[in-house]
Amino acid sequence: MADKKKRFKWPMIIMACILFLLLIGKITQSIYSIDKEYISVKVNSEKIEKGIKLMTETKESDSYTSFMSIPFSKIEEIDQPINYWAIEQEESFYEEVKQTEVLLDEDVSGHFNLHTDVYQINDHIYNYALNVEHFLQNDRKYSQVKTYMIDLQTNSFLSFSDIFDTDKIKSENIWNLLNDDSKKQINETSFKENFSNLDNINWIVNNDMLIIYINPKQLEKSNDTLAVEIPLIKLHKNIKKPYLKIIISDSLTEEIKQVEKKDARKKLQLDKDGKYIALTFDDGPHDQVTQQILESLKQYDAKATFFMLSNNVKYYPDIANQVLKDGHELANHSESHVNLNATNKKRIDDELLNSKTVIEEVTGITPSLFRPPYGEYNQKVIDLANDSDQSIILWSIDTLDWKSRNAKSIYNITINKARPGAIVLMHDIHQTTADALPLVLNELSKQGYEFVTVSELLTLFEDEGIGPYYGN
Ligand code: ZN
Repeated sequence: MADKKKRFKWPMIIMACILFLLLIGKITQSIYSIDKEYISVKVNSEKIEKGIKLMTETKESDSYTSFMSIPFSKIEEIDQPINYWAIEQEESFYEEVKQTEVLLDEDVSGHFNLHTDVYQINDHIYNYALNVEHFLQNDRKYSQVKTYMIDLQTNSFLSFSDIFDTDKIKSENIWNLLNDDSKKQINETSFKENFSNLDNINWIVNNDMLIIYINPKQLEKSNDTLAVEIPLIKLHKNIKKPYLKIIISDSLTEEIKQVEKKDARKKLQLDKDGKYIALTFDDGPHDQVTQQILESLKQYDAKATFFMLSNNVKYYPDIANQVLKDGHELANHSESHVNLNATNKKRIDDELLNSKTVIEEVTGITPSLFRPPYGEYNQKVIDLANDSDQSIILWSIDTLDWKSRNAKSIYNITINKARPGAIVLMHDIHQTTADALPLVLNELSKQGYEFVTVSELLTLFEDEGIGPYYGN
């Protein structure tokens, strides 16, 4: 009985092996040709991404074992150089094993491992990181990483200088962006010499990071590759335009926009010799005039401040929000334009505070500037403005647009009185003001003025130690 069982077992094992191999997938011929004798060689392929397969090969010989997984795109221009590089690595390891055997005069156990990480950038651009590890006598002796960026649309490799503007970014810049811990491990001279041509670096981009693999030759001590990360937000200015959207995520794009806005403001604050003027528009928003004014400001890339009545904000919430969206400042001009010098404390409270609350509710921003109607205010108004963190802002040039209702007159007054640091009073409720604005913007631009918000102008003055600005 026992004999019978044994006889039936062998064919079953062979069948199982064949089934197993069929399940693994297509058995392909080795794409490598190393001129040595192996006990066994197995090659299979695994599809990992559209258009890219990972060819896996294991080998066993007397003195060492090897494992390689190499990306395969069926595009010869891409696959061939990668294969050559992989073969070179394996051959040099083979030499190392042989030399060690001669040196020690005994057989050594070695293992060569090459595994590939594939990072998809978009539907046709990929990063490969080929990780090589050398093990001798059960110990890892060495590791290095080789990277490629491939484009399946153009059947070509993309180099560092294809993606980054290497006229602007140099190895010194990269060095300066490394953290202190990384710097300690890297030999600065070797790093800068080797990467004087940045196309020599091994790099990938992943999760809005530039990851650079520093191989042992550039390291102070280690025989293992060091991976260092540099946030792309620090390098985005050096990414070539066509690749900017490909390389960085939408959320980082948004973050960069915010940072740039802040930077622009900072720059503005620091430029003390600038020729700035603040246009202000009171009593709106108005359904037609405000929009016309916004259009003109946009044409001249001018920023302005709109002192709004909260009753009008309630009535035209979309226009109030459009003002903010266009990058202008929205400020408080009371609830109903009552003369604060002619009313009681309760009404002053309402006019300053209710209006502030309404603006917050409608637009989500908290106004920090208050302009009293008619420029009329008293100590109660000053105290309440202080308590509610609203600076009182008047003006230095009154265009009298409310009185003249004449575009030519508004233009003449503004141009004649214009000077750096001026705050110009206008109203976005009169058609004649909207008509005068393009002429004013045109002439003042020609004279070299830049149009800023009141808060921006104030920061400039605060920098100079002049203090809050209350008009003339
Ligand atoms: Zn007013």
